[in-house]
Amino acid sequence: MSQTTKDNINYKDFIFDTAVIGAGPAGLSAAIRARFIKSHGAYPMSAIVFDSSETAGGLANFGGSKLTGPSFQLERGELVSKLLKDIQLFDIPIISQKVTEIKKSRRAGEEFIIKAATGAGAASYRAKSVIMATGMRPLSNELQYYNKGVEITYMGYDFINKMISGFINDAARNDKKFIIYGNKYSLNLINFVLSAINGLKVDFNKISPLFLINADDKDIQKITAGKVFKKYSFLFSFGKIIKFSGAARLESITVESNGELRHENVDRVLLDYNSFELAPDFKIKIQPAAAIFTPAGFIKTDAGAGTKIKGLYAAGDICGPYYSVSRAMASGITAAFSAYEFVMREKKHVKNFSMFAYKASDFTPGTDYREISVDLNVDKIAVLSQSRKIKKVLAPELKNTAAADFNKLLDFFSIYRVVDINDFNKISKLFNIPLIELSRLVEFMIEEKLAGLY
Ligand SMILES: Cc1cc2nc3c(=O)[nH]c(=O)nc-3n(C[C@H](O)[C@H](O)[C@H](O)COP(=O)(O)OP(=O)(O)OC[C@H]3O[C@@H](n4cnc5c(N)ncnc54)[C@H](O)[C@@H]3O)c2cc1C
Repeated sequence: MSQTTKDNINYKDFIFDTAVIGAGPAGLSAAIRARFIKSHGAYPMSAIVFDSSETAGGLANFGGSKLTGPSFQLERGELVSKLLKDIQLFDIPIISQKVTEIKKSRRAGEEFIIKAATGAGAASYRAKSVIMATGMRPLSNELQYYNKGVEITYMGYDFINKMISGFINDAARNDKKFIIYGNKYSLNLINFVLSAINGLKVDFNKISPLFLINADDKDIQKITAGKVFKKYSFLFSFGKIIKFSGAARLESITVESNGELRHENVDRVLLDYNSFELAPDFKIKIQPAAAIFTPAGFIKTDAGAGTKIKGLYAAGDICGPYYSVSRAMASGITAAFSAYEFVMREKKHVKNFSMFAYKASDFTPGTDYREISVDLNVDKIAVLSQSRKIKKVLAPELKNTAAADFNKLLDFFSIYRVVDINDFNKISKLFNIPLIELSRLVEFMIEEKLAGLY
């Protein structure tokens, strides 16, 4: 994963066209599409991606998540590696930090401020649009222990019933600690738990607490007031898992509760995704506070993945059912198209931008018609790719330029550098390249997705 420090690039200084929160199938697809839009005749957007986990791919990294049809399947890892290949191709940075707040700033021309991480590592980034693709919950490092102590509920209740019974049996017989981690809806599993305990004749004390519930005060009050909780309160504990630890297998978890951290020795955790499918764990503070959520806490979107906050889009599991990789990817792509339209029309005031191969317009294009054009007098150009890629593209174009001059020229085109008319004038004089020629070069770089309008 790209880090803030890699390549010495300070992403905080750059205003991205779109910031994508979440590097699952929805977020990765959105970021790639924002940059690609279409292969020919479209400005690429600059994109940055954030993920709370060190590993990009979201739930698509876990065994059960496959892109399937009745007669084909893309296995876990396969899909993610294809997406990450494109992320790399486009030099899209992925920042391994948890986003905590998204604020629409009035002072900075209505840009979004994205606050990530807390404490010493806390940082702010800026973007003209935001795509929320946070899935059902922020991941930390559970992938490292997947099938080595971390399990996930899937394949429906028949299967979950069998899993719970097997895990309780193993815990009781082998003196291991097993917990089910979910939210208030994990109480729906109580009958499976009771029938396993009773059927296996396990001592309640030996396996309690069995549930770890990620709930805030409001939910805790509701849960503790309920009949089930009152009868079986010894089975429940509260807190949020923020880290999984162990040498070869899971040995312990770090749990946060009311701002305090505690460590618990645990051999097996069943992540109850059925409960997160009913209520996602979404804790990003959004300002201005707007009615963008459903009562269960999912983000409400229109057909274009837009929310009630202009410039803020959402895609994938955070928008509620149906949960699938294909839907996550499709909605991520939709969100990117909508963000593109918003940024080009409202932020960059581009009149003729084109998102589809054949513009559905009833008009006769002139002989000099171009879908995109670059006017060096008005536009600032943002370099979006590394200079070695720029070099590959520019070299054939500037084959008559001396090597030393060519290298000097590359300094103007280093990644996330904004090149404006002053730079173009300098380049023009230094290398004796007419501005019109430079304009053609920049158009070429835009076609190659190496640069975009700033
Ligand atoms: C066990 C299981 C089996 C499944 N099997 C299938 C299947 O076979 N086929 C299928 O099509 N679908 C399957 N699914 C569903 C599929 O995995 C999801 O629908 C899909 O991964 C959703 O993609 P997403 O990008 O919306 O969310 P996710 O894949 O959940 O990705 C969201 C990302 O956002 C990050 N994030 C969250 N909050 C923050 C934050 N505050 N800051 C930074 N990052 C954050 C998370 O760490 C995560 O990486 C399965 C799901 C599960 C749980």
